[in-house]
Amino acid sequence: MTDFKKTRSLFHLPEGVIYLDGNSLGPLPIAAKDHVAKLMTDEWGELLIKGWNKAGWMMMPRRIGDRVGKLVGAAEDTVVMGDTLSIKVYQALASAVDLVPERKVILSDSGNFPSDLYIAQGLIGSLGRGHELKIVEPEDVEAAIDENVAVLMLTEVDYRTGRLHDMKALTKKAHSVGAITVWDLAHSAGALPVDLDGAEADFAVGCTYKYLNGGPGAPAFIYVAPRHLEKVRPALSGWLGHESPFAFDLGYRPGGGIDRMRVGTPPIIGLAALDVALDAWEGVDMADLRRQSIKLCDLFVAEVEKRCPMLTLGSPRDGNKRGSQISFLHAEGYAIMQALIARGVIGDFRAPNAIRFGFTPLYIGEKDVLAAVDILADIMTNSLWDTAEYKQKALVT
Ligand SMILES: *Cc1c(COP(=O)(O)O)cnc(C)c1O
Repeated sequence: MTDFKKTRSLFHLPEGVIYLDGNSLGPLPIAAKDHVAKLMTDEWGELLIKGWNKAGWMMMPRRIGDRVGKLVGAAEDTVVMGDTLSIKVYQALASAVDLVPERKVILSDSGNFPSDLYIAQGLIGSLGRGHELKIVEPEDVEAAIDENVAVLMLTEVDYRTGRLHDMKALTKKAHSVGAITVWDLAHSAGALPVDLDGAEADFAVGCTYKYLNGGPGAPAFIYVAPRHLEKVRPALSGWLGHESPFAFDLGYRPGGGIDRMRVGTPPIIGLAALDVALDAWEGVDMADLRRQSIKLCDLFVAEVEKRCPMLTLGSPRDGNKRGSQISFLHAEGYAIMQALIARGVIGDFRAPNAIRFGFTPLYIGEKDVLAAVDILADIMTNSLWDTAEYKQKALVT
């Protein structure tokens, strides 16, 4: 059994805060402070540029890629870290489109995160080959997979509702018509068991600042199935993805395997924080995590529905059909969330009307869920959200 008391002790959670927003930004792993400080003083400070060789900086994107890979069912040497998720979406999609040159449709759904859709639109413009981004409702995706589709690009867990796609079944259907898949695991990695190899996914990408607790702006990851690795065109052909970066050739030749998906100089300080954050997963059984996550979410739904009838559940009721988050809908959702945050219950708001709560068994337990519902019930019953201050929109919601 996973020891969630122990995992909780690894994180800094501010006094008086119930943190239900680890789906947006995970909390600080306590060990990260010293680890990053030590890297700064001992490695950057003392080794200077020798750190690239002596401290293993150059291979960090690969070493840590393997660590992340373990959490998403990817074999060694199929995941590499770098850049931000939006960039990795571009790279994966461009590479995927390239593998099916005769087709023109990129299929996605209206539950995808806007950045992924914007990136697809931008790529289509740059390619100038008449590709089309087809966006259907999440429940219509399966029926829309046909022989016109070049790439099926989906986010497994809907950022707004938590609805979970069946990665294995949709990938199978895509392959049956000759399409390639790009899966975004932003709300899956560290939230639930993922089996990329088992699902025969083609490409996958994800960020590490949400459920993996790597810190604000932590580097993203990209996965390429072994069967594509030696033929895929990396699309972003930077020098560190070159076969021999320090030969400084004038012409690009892709590196071997997943190395070719590297682009430029890796963010070493961010990778160091992520490296230590991943230690929290040692000894965590993903099946235990999933069971506990569903239990916490179910408890939250039951208690909120009992005590706040004015809120409408915006997530699937069946725990097996959602990720590790719950949304409730209300026209004044923004103000309600501000009132909650003022009382120490941190979730977030997603336009137009969703208040969103992430449940992260590594550091959130039943007591937190019940305490959060007490405060939410007070705010709703007494309309404590109904003030001008709470309706004032901030830059980040
Ligand atoms: C969080 C998230 C992003 C954010 O991309 P960044 O480049 O890291 O800002 C993109 N796509 C999805 C599906 C997300 O959930």
